[in-house]
Amino acid sequence: MKETRKGMLIVVSGPSGTGKGTLCEKLLANDTSVRFSVSATTRSQREGEIDGIHYHFMSDERFDELLKQDAFLEHATVHGHRYGTLTKPIDEGIEKGQNILLDIDSQGAINVMKRRPDCVSIFILPPSGNALRVRLHTRNTDDPAEIRRRLANAPGEVAKLKLYDYVVINDDLEMAYEQIYHIVQAEKQKTCRYFPVIEDL
Ligand code: ADP
Ligand code: 5GP
Repeated sequence: MKETRKGMLIVVSGPSGTGKGTLCEKLLANDTSVRFSVSATTRSQREGEIDGIHYHFMSDERFDELLKQDAFLEHATVHGHRYGTLTKPIDEGIEKGQNILLDIDSQGAINVMKRRPDCVSIFILPPSGNALRVRLHTRNTDDPAEIRRRLANAPGEVAKLKLYDYVVINDDLEMAYEQIYHIVQAEKQKTCRYFPVIEDL
């Protein structure tokens, strides 16, 4: 049997602190066909973050240069900082049959859905507003003003839920991860992406 596969774009979005990063890391660790799309950002680097692995950290001037070169599939200002998805590494990955994972905000996710209607979009909901607040505080990566800003943006993001293909509630982490894992495995088997050939039939 011969088989070929076309890669897909997997767009994961949801309010800040809902667990997107945690769930994406688990998927990346367990499914080698999935590669992370490293975004460009003008926000400052957090402790433990590696340039080129978590983000391409850059100045506003460099971000503007990339914009001028039309290097972004989408870009948005999120919680006061600029973020952008680079088109070239995505297209190269998909060409190789890789599944490219985007962890982006809802403005960006909706723009990707418009430009790449064959993408697979997953919205991650927290179990409650209070759980979101607690997660943002215990993550301890943002100051209180930044946390307030992220929480204030959450209702607007949740209002766009219906535009996504799938919704997953991240209450129990393992259960949410299992759901995402199974969505990805099922999407891989779609006949628009998976081309098996039985040579002796
Ligand atoms: P996001 O990428 O959506 O901003 P993170 O993945 O950084 O969110 O998660 C925010 C915080 O919540 C982290 O400290 C993470 O360990 C924690 N977290 C993630 N999922 C769960 C869960 N299901 N239950 C409790 N805490 C969680
Ligand atoms: P953080 O600063 O916590 O890493 O990310 C803040 C928000 O920006 C998250 O919702 C994250 O998904 C989003 N984000 C990260 N990269 C991109 C990107 O390239 N484009 C868009 N639109 N949002 C992004």
